Amino acid sequence: MKIKVDFDLCESNALCEAMAPEVFELDDDDYLVVKTEETTPDNVDDVRRAVAACPRAAISLVED
Ligand code: SF4
Repeated sequence: MKIKVDFDLCESNALCEAMAPEVFELDDDDYLVVKTEETTPDNVDDVRRAVAACPRAAISLVED
C-alpha cells in the first residue's frame, strides 16, 4: 500500500512520528517528512497506528 499525507491538513504535531519514526519525521523547520511512500511488513502496523493517531486525519493508506 502507498502512504499518502495531505500536507494541507497536517499541523506538524509529530504524533505520527511517535507511532512510526521509521516512516514519519519532522525536520528542523517542523515540516513533516515522509521517508517512504511504501508500506512493508515491518512498518505497516506502526503506520496504521500513525493513521489512527493523527487528529487531522491527514494520513491515508491507498491500495496499490
Ligand atoms: S499526526 Fe497528522 S497532523 Fe500530526 S504531524 Fe503527523 S500527519 Fe501531521
